[in-house]
Amino acid sequence: MIKRLLIANRGEIAVRIIRSCREMGIETVAVYSTADKDSLHVRLANKAVCVGPPPSAKSYLRKENLIMAALHSGCEAIHPGVGFLSENAEFARLVRNQGLIFIGPDPQIIELLGDKVIARTTAEKYGLPVTPGTGALNPGGAGKDAGEAEKSAAKLGFPVIIKAAAGGGGRGMRIVHKPQDLAENIRIAGYEAEANFADGTVFIEKYLENPRHVELQIIADGTGKVAVLGERDCSVQKKHQKLIEESPSPGVKDDMRRAMTAGAVPLFRDLKYQGAGTIEFLVEKDAFYFMEVNARVQVEHPVSEFVSGVDIIRQQILACTGNPMELDPEAVDLRGWSIECRINAGASGKISRLEIPGGPGVRFDSFLYTGCSVPPHYDSMVGKLIVYGKDRPHALARMDRALEELCIEGIPTNINRQKRILNHPGFRSGRFGTSFYEEVQEEIEKEP
Ligand code: ADP
Repeated sequence: MIKRLLIANRGEIAVRIIRSCREMGIETVAVYSTADKDSLHVRLANKAVCVGPPPSAKSYLRKENLIMAALHSGCEAIHPGVGFLSENAEFARLVRNQGLIFIGPDPQIIELLGDKVIARTTAEKYGLPVTPGTGALNPGGAGKDAGEAEKSAAKLGFPVIIKAAAGGGGRGMRIVHKPQDLAENIRIAGYEAEANFADGTVFIEKYLENPRHVELQIIADGTGKVAVLGERDCSVQKKHQKLIEESPSPGVKDDMRRAMTAGAVPLFRDLKYQGAGTIEFLVEKDAFYFMEVNARVQVEHPVSEFVSGVDIIRQQILACTGNPMELDPEAVDLRGWSIECRINAGASGKISRLEIPGGPGVRFDSFLYTGCSVPPHYDSMVGKLIVYGKDRPHALARMDRALEELCIEGIPTNINRQKRILNHPGFRSGRFGTSFYEEVQEEIEKEP
């Protein structure tokens, strides 16, 4: 087992990784920007290295600084966490070139899966249905592509969604309702993709009106062992940003789960995939469509941890450091129901009071402590409240009481809004899709 690992991230995910490392006897080296010098991950790590000023482009995204910090502090591996450089193939390659272990799959696999067009073709080879759509379009290139796009979109039927092949994080997508708006939107999407992801390639998919977002949690050891820790439902989204996740999905039956798994397992096995990964689908009634693979651990992984009893970060580290997998893929035992509410800050500021819920089946993953500062420079998520119950009604009741106990003062948060979503009849019924939030937005947001 490795002795020391650098975490190229901040916030709750850095804290989460430190916790597993501690239990595994691995020392951790935190990195921080000057805005995060008193942050919890800095306090909890064995050692911490400042990597630059507050803007992430000058600190958490500085590949060379991060690698230098790892080398100078005697680390053998780098964990990229989520966001930042977690799906950056070039970073993974640089890490490896310095003789360090990257906690993630091979850079080539990151590259392959990071291109949504290539990922779609790969999924199709494994018999997974993909959302009806086109291949790669290059709006910056020849004019014939615009004509080609119009023809393809007409075949798909409107509305359609234009996506950046290299997109991610819910960005780089444009929904188009009318044929006359297509050419212009493709042009803009291409420019945006070029500016944001340094790759102007886009493609078109049929826009499904109110599908569920369902994803499988995968752990693979790179030698052929692939375990599936059930699915998560992430349909409660505001502007494509997930707000509430749960496992299992109230809309997935056994036969659909089996069909998704039957396509996903050989795909990850043949890719010799290493570590934690997610395969995402859109679900419409009894049909499901492959959307993409996220080649990293995800924010919502704790709901899968609750229902499977597996520490996903631990398994990820074992898999990527060449240690045998502790899981028997044939013996994954999924029980009960788990729900996660993301807790987001409405502004930066100092936490004047913090009361964390406890009791059976409750977990709070966060970097907050009384007196800490939430800097304005990063993601608005400050914590995740996760509960476990024997079934969905039990988990709902637990989340309701845990949200009631959670008290964060000093900054505005979405705690009350999460309570309103949780108690909305549409959410309670389990019959909702990705348009649910938009439909109830006014009710949910009428008060803070
Ligand atoms: P990202 O990689 O940016 O997270 P995804 O491809 O995972 O983007 O899509 C994010 C969300 O966008 C989905 O959960 C869903 O709400 C919406 N979405 C994506 N593709 C479609 C589609 N074809 N039809 C309807 N909604 C879609």
